[in-house]
Amino acid sequence: MGSGKIIIAIDGYSSTGKSSFAKLVAKGLGYIYADSGALYRAITYFAYNNGFIDDRGAIDEEPLKKLLKIIKISFRNDRGGNSRTFLNGDDIEAGIRTSQVSGLVSKIAELGFVREHVNAILKQMAIDKGIVMDGRDIGTAVFPNAELKIFMTATPEVRAQRRFLELQAKGSKDTYEKVLEDLKKRDYIDEHREIDPLRRAKDAIELDNTFMTMEEEIEWLNKILLPNFNLEVELPKQ
Ligand code: C5P
Repeated sequence: MGSGKIIIAIDGYSSTGKSSFAKLVAKGLGYIYADSGALYRAITYFAYNNGFIDDRGAIDEEPLKKLLKIIKISFRNDRGGNSRTFLNGDDIEAGIRTSQVSGLVSKIAELGFVREHVNAILKQMAIDKGIVMDGRDIGTAVFPNAELKIFMTATPEVRAQRRFLELQAKGSKDTYEKVLEDLKKRDYIDEHREIDPLRRAKDAIELDNTFMTMEEEIEWLNKILLPNFNLEVELPKQ
């Protein structure tokens, strides 16, 4: 059975804490963490800064299609072990997390050529397995044969509250109502797009973390990992 390493696909709605969970799992298993949303965000950031998408989401597809072939998006870990996103050698991690990019990314993610480009990068990253990847279509489209698939949900109100607190900590003035509205809009586009919409893979296990702490989520995961894969995630010591 090869190296015994597996692919863990974590999909779900925005602000369900997918990336925090996925990062912790990857760290605890000594696996790579891959943030597929960061790739869609990096392309959106690039498109916006070059005028290929405007504030209302109108897209000039042709130049984006051409330039996508020559730009280089990569990930590097900082000293604290956190993944940062780079575009042609520049650190764009802060730039891809703005509400500007969050508001436009679902439009860019609807484009077939963008999805193909991102999927090729993701497949390359997972060539040796031993990877935890989070996104919207990892278990359905990118790795339909992933050994373990998790689908994360929580109520929109709880997710909006988490996102609101995150944004406030960054100095954002957006109200809770605006954050909730944006989040519902993004969910809608992600679930209704033509290509690889957000949906739960038939063989994905659902994790509703509305009332769960991260510790409880890891305990829940270990109950699946240990008997099936002989793997265990250790929580970092406080
Ligand atoms: O996960 P994150 O919120 O950073 O993702 C940003 C956006 O990228 C999502 O709202 C979705 O539109 C898009 N996305 C996607 N497929 C993925 C990951 C993200 O369409 N696998």
